[in-house]
Amino acid sequence: MLIVMKKDATQQDIERVIRKIRQSGYEPRPIPGRNRTAIGIVGNIGAVEPSPFLNLPSVKDVIPVTKPYKLVSREFHPESTVVTVSKEVKIGEGHFAIIAGPCAVESEEQALKAAAMVKKAGAHIFRGGAYKPRTSPYSFQGLGLEGLKILAKVREETGLPVVSEAIDHSVYDLVEDYCDIVQIGTRNMQNFSLLKRAGKSNKPVILKRGMSATVTEWLMAAEYILHEGNSKIILCERGIRTFCNHSRNTLDLSAILFLLKETHLPVIADPSHASGRREQVAPLSLASSIIGAHGIMVEVHPDPERALSDGPQSLRPDDLSALVKDVNKILNTKQRNEPC
Ligand code: PEP
Ligand code: MN
Repeated sequence: MLIVMKKDATQQDIERVIRKIRQSGYEPRPIPGRNRTAIGIVGNIGAVEPSPFLNLPSVKDVIPVTKPYKLVSREFHPESTVVTVSKEVKIGEGHFAIIAGPCAVESEEQALKAAAMVKKAGAHIFRGGAYKPRTSPYSFQGLGLEGLKILAKVREETGLPVVSEAIDHSVYDLVEDYCDIVQIGTRNMQNFSLLKRAGKSNKPVILKRGMSATVTEWLMAAEYILHEGNSKIILCERGIRTFCNHSRNTLDLSAILFLLKETHLPVIADPSHASGRREQVAPLSLASSIIGAHGIMVEVHPDPERALSDGPQSLRPDDLSALVKDVNKILNTKQRNEPC
């Protein structure tokens, strides 16, 4: 339930409502807005009786929230959240971020080469896995701490913020220390203890969609992070399992459209893991930018044929430069087309 205060409500009025919520055994979540404050109620199992709140001074309205997710919903928080990654880079409404880099950090030389490509192409954030969640235990598992140190060097040399995946609780602290954004991958979307850990962090989190997760399950996973106090969440649609065999997964563009209305959190697309095929990455990236996603994450490698993971979906340097140009064209056209 959401308690909407009148425009002229005083701090005392707000605190009175907060006390009443606590006395009733629920958790208050004040949401200050541009014009008025709203106070969300969480922690209730069934419906909350509105009358005790409606009678309090300066309460304008009491709105039932029917969805299982609350803090992430636009019902609770109508204004879009923009996640600040660094002084120069933001992700969210009005801020389209291009995240690019190799699937895995393989060596200092490879990462610095890739980072130079990413920077030259005009992308905004460098990605690279130091801890890799691989289907086979015999596949390259990542360089671990050494990989994170290389990412720190990339940031130092290029000025680009860096993102890497925390594959479990034991490495979260390290990834958080070395990187500007922590990624939670598809396989961990419902690792609830990891989500709670992410919620205690100050660093932004990219939460990828579980490969078989519904949008509701995905939003509930984000709710875990926000409930612990971290609202710097970027949702990443990375493709879901379907019966298709023409691509690795299916990029669910309609999920992005749905989320843009349903949640205030930024939503980006990862066409590399969605398609698994280099030739599909650029068109799907453009499609994502056309429908209003707040960014894309794409894999790029200086020498994809020799990549230790995900070579077939990795863009070549020239592909990335062309893609960034095309995305920028779309963003400029969209801006021009917006009503004055
Ligand atoms: C990745 O980004 O390298 C990755 C492993 O992604 P996902 O969790 O979407 O498979
Ligand atoms: Mn990958």
